[in-house]
Amino acid sequence: MVRRLSLFGATGSVGRSTLDLVRCDGEAWRVTVLTANSDVAELAKLAREFRPGIAVIADPARYGALRDALAGTGIEAAAGAEALVEAAQRPTDLVMAAIVGTAGLAPTMAALAAGHDVALANKEALVSAGELMTAAARASGATILPVDSEHNAIFQCLAGGRIDEVRRIVLTASGGPFRTMAAEAMAAVTPAQAVAHPNWSMGAKISVDSATMMNKGLELIEAHHLFPVGLDRIEILVHPQSVIHSMVEFVDCSTLAQLGSPDMRIPIASALAWPQRMATPCAPLDLASIGRLDFEAPDEARFPATALCRAAIAEGGARPAQLNAANEVAVAAFLSGRIAFPAIVDTVRRVIDAEAPAVPASLQDIFSVDAASRAAAQIFVDQLVHA
Ligand code: NAD
Ligand code: MG
Repeated sequence: MVRRLSLFGATGSVGRSTLDLVRCDGEAWRVTVLTANSDVAELAKLAREFRPGIAVIADPARYGALRDALAGTGIEAAAGAEALVEAAQRPTDLVMAAIVGTAGLAPTMAALAAGHDVALANKEALVSAGELMTAAARASGATILPVDSEHNAIFQCLAGGRIDEVRRIVLTASGGPFRTMAAEAMAAVTPAQAVAHPNWSMGAKISVDSATMMNKGLELIEAHHLFPVGLDRIEILVHPQSVIHSMVEFVDCSTLAQLGSPDMRIPIASALAWPQRMATPCAPLDLASIGRLDFEAPDEARFPATALCRAAIAEGGARPAQLNAANEVAVAAFLSGRIAFPAIVDTVRRVIDAEAPAVPASLQDIFSVDAASRAAAQIFVDQLVHA
């Protein structure tokens, strides 16, 4: 049976891995939507290969270029934020949400509201609007299939017991490229060092988040929304080899873990094929050659981001949205060489300390908090740059 797939963020790391899997079993899939932020040439190339009904470029200034690039193909070209939302509502069997940042929130919400199952990589959307997203899924009957490797692992482990039988969720973390670095040395790290993750090849933003461990904090919030066992039952464990992707301990003290090579195509395949399995070209796990698995407690003195995230989700309301938006601005400032590495988490903390956002009642409220937090973070970044 052919399944329809709408892919948001087709040109990114998760998007490309998704299309790799579709290529492996082209007969099984019909791609209906492809989107990208600004890379018209790459989007048009993918569209010519996968023949979606529509290709959407988020940057409205590039509409003409996309239309010209797709001329004669019969593929509809569209541009802008509203076109992304409209494309997310089109009939499909699965939406892959692989846009980075809260730019992915509106289309992901639209897909859930339309009742589409969503394979969710776009963790920032869930961090910002977790209550609204899970409520939209409940209301429409849509399923959220976690793609983030840890959450996909937990989702798989939960096949072994009920959520009310969970004693503890153990979210594993590689510790990132600076796991063993002294705090003083972090002031000098470069964007190139920060994006060079020891185990995973990923987009720039999530790579920096892994280096600050903000990624694990965002994932804690993500886990809290996807698997409501109570915050105090979700623990972080550093596991440098990234072989165990997370674990679930049940009330009987039996612990289930999901293991695999650090290749995102494995959790992506699990979400694509769910509730079945699909073959992948990924390297099978070779534990004898890996030899050993190590574990250590996270060091929140050197990596304070996880504690900030835990406090933000414990407080709830719009705090996580505020934190996430400030982090997006700070990461972009670090990547463009404007601020030092430790200033990323400092900026997030300053934004949180400066203002307590009102509890959001709607998606519009989340967008307002997101915008205010970005503006506040930008001011702190500019102060650092001009200091
Ligand atoms: P990436 O930067 O490689 O790709 C991002 C995609 O989003 C691109 O297609 C880009 O064109 C699009 N995009 C960027 N800004 C946009 C905007 N303003 N509007 C519309 N589209 C925009 O990112 P990635 O590493 O593939 O990550 C995607 C998401 O998946 C992130 O939320 C990330 O946290 C999550 N994730 C990624 C990995 C990984 O291995 N890469 C693992 C787990 C979770
Ligand atoms: Mg992850």
